[in-house]
Amino acid sequence: MTRDPRFDILFEPVRIGPVVARNRFYQVPHCNGMGYRDPTALAAMRGIKAEGGWAVVCTEQVEIHHTSEITPFIELRLWDDRDIPALVRMSDAVHEHGALAGIELCYNGMNGSNLYTREVPMGPAHLPVATFTYDPVQARAMSKRDIQSLRRWHRAAAVRAKRAGFDIVYVYAGHALGGLHHFLSRRYNDRTDEYGGSLENRVRLLREVIEDTREAVGDRSAVAVRVTVDELLGDDGLSKAEMEDAFGLIGELPDLWDLVLGSWEDDSRTSRFADEAFQEPFVTGFKRLTTKPVVGVGRFTSPDTMVRQVKAGILDLIGCARPSIADPFLPKKVEEGRVEDIRECIGCNICVSGDFTMSPIRCTQNPSMGEEWRRGWHPERIRRKTSEANVLVVGGGPAGLEAAMMLGRRGCEVALAEGGESLGGRVLREARLPGLAAWGRVHDYRAYQIARMPTVQTYLASRLEADDVLAFGFSHVAIATGSTWRRDAVGRLHTKPVAIDPAMPVLTPDDLMSGLRPAGRDVVVFDDDHYYMASVLAELLVAAGCRVRLLTMASRAAEWTYHTMEQHRIQTRLLELGVVVDTNRGLRSVGAGEIEVFCKFTGKTDRVACDTFVPVTARLPDDSLYAALQARQGEWQAAGIARVDAIGDAWAPGTIAAAVYAGRRYAEEFDLPEHDGDTVPFRREITELSTADPQSGSRSGITRVEAS
Ligand code: ADP
Ligand code: SF4
Repeated sequence: MTRDPRFDILFEPVRIGPVVARNRFYQVPHCNGMGYRDPTALAAMRGIKAEGGWAVVCTEQVEIHHTSEITPFIELRLWDDRDIPALVRMSDAVHEHGALAGIELCYNGMNGSNLYTREVPMGPAHLPVATFTYDPVQARAMSKRDIQSLRRWHRAAAVRAKRAGFDIVYVYAGHALGGLHHFLSRRYNDRTDEYGGSLENRVRLLREVIEDTREAVGDRSAVAVRVTVDELLGDDGLSKAEMEDAFGLIGELPDLWDLVLGSWEDDSRTSRFADEAFQEPFVTGFKRLTTKPVVGVGRFTSPDTMVRQVKAGILDLIGCARPSIADPFLPKKVEEGRVEDIRECIGCNICVSGDFTMSPIRCTQNPSMGEEWRRGWHPERIRRKTSEANVLVVGGGPAGLEAAMMLGRRGCEVALAEGGESLGGRVLREARLPGLAAWGRVHDYRAYQIARMPTVQTYLASRLEADDVLAFGFSHVAIATGSTWRRDAVGRLHTKPVAIDPAMPVLTPDDLMSGLRPAGRDVVVFDDDHYYMASVLAELLVAAGCRVRLLTMASRAAEWTYHTMEQHRIQTRLLELGVVVDTNRGLRSVGAGEIEVFCKFTGKTDRVACDTFVPVTARLPDDSLYAALQARQGEWQAAGIARVDAIGDAWAPGTIAAAVYAGRRYAEEFDLPEHDGDTVPFRREITELSTADPQSGSRSGITRVEAS
């Protein structure tokens, strides 16, 4: 197939200083929780993006100096020459597929607590570090000498980046994540010298660092500058008008402008809180202020939106982080006229949670993300079948859909049996909840792919019993029958069923998703799950006219969503809707017309009027079919069954990402010998023990202290 001519403009090359991007698809820097700990896995992940057609593939932020690191978060490092080989591995992987490699150099300044190096952080002013972890650390105001040092360190890092093969070297002044942003912003910069006060003064350090970087590497590498176009703080911070003025001062200095909005939390909003291209009004207009190419983001998955932004003169390059994670082959698919094959990002920010939990990146839509080297998975390819095994997949939720699709790609004969009237399972149910419509894409992509696979047959309205499965004679059976929310409030707080008066109406999340609504007005949602479900149900209940109290032992609503950068937006929305967010309190018992709650700290109890109780605590696997088949193992051989596995929520309830991952893993491994768990089943990067101490020259790296 060939591409639609209306997308031709996306495939025009773009000159960026001394280098040329082969098209307009630009993977902007993004964190991934792998960084310096997993450099080979990281290189493989970036290389696959290049293979997928991106013209530019960037690193995440790269710490340029040991006085500025963001432990416990795991990013890349370029502290000295010894960090170069890890970066070469990535630039090589990117070049292998004809893309440009970009590196985002970052002096974190007062955004890093230096918990590892114990150096005192530095910033424009004497202020507590600006991390959200409230570390008891203050940055000190930089002297002129410190500023000279910072310029020298940045220049040295740029030279190392060039030696490591990078084609685009960033000066990072965005997202409030680096020192250059802090100098720019009135929020942090109260200096009275030539680096503070007027815009011209606040821009001075950025100007100097851009000039230094150009001088150091500009002959071969392009210099990109990433800035926040509006801090969304009104007069207290950088506004769009002020940034436009800044472009008047330095607009022509770099080879490329990379525009972001506010902090990272502002920029990478989930689909629950922002649509595709919501940054557009903030970014519009900057291109007119510079002759240099401009890249910007917008969780772009629609090539039409991309074309429109280019034609309207808003962007030159289409910046993507999450869309490139969900589908590393997005550009190739547009190029090959396969737009309908794009695995669209659902905007859930599970990818971000990898960085926030210091674990390798994962993605709801792309289960191979982070597993490219570790398990050898590829987003588009999977090895062909090795036998004539045929597979019955029971259940068409995310786990069953992914398993069936990837088994189909392997060329296996597959039957997908779904008890309900449509495929999708929990994803279709949850996509009908407030703000979660985009989650339906998990179903849409897979159902579309499966419908075109001749070896995968789908059977709807086919609720199977053990007798059916035994009668069919498939050699392998994957039970992906999902899970059910508990009615007895068992979860983290209560590990045994809670006393619930039979006179109290109880509605579980499943009841609400199937359309049941409370009888009375006062509803208590007890959130012992701490992810999104309780909060979206609270929104649903408010829309149904209820007065809602969200009760949680955590100190914030939807506590875990801090890892998806939505917690404060969720709490704001709930408060604005009039939901009582009742924190640090737990459920003691459920009576008729009221519930008893207790304070987490004092134990003091209290009674709250309640017409309907909604426990959002935990789920139980729907594993009765699996259990029935296991109990009849003696009949398998006669029925031609070699193996029965439970996958996804039917094995252990988890995130949608975990269910999709389980489906992929099943398709990869169902025909391998069953894993006994005695060996590590994936590749790991093992740190080499230091053999030389550069300071003392000692061979062992350990200096012995002799008693005198
Ligand atoms: P997961 O997240 O693990 O994929 P879901 O709950 O989303 O799980 O999906 C499970 C699907 O399995 C649901 O669509 C449900 O209707 C279907 N299902 C459950 N039991 C059976 C069964 N015995 N036969 C066929 N389909 C079933
Ligand atoms: Fe998009 Fe979610 Fe994947 Fe992140 S994890 S790339 S937000 S689908």
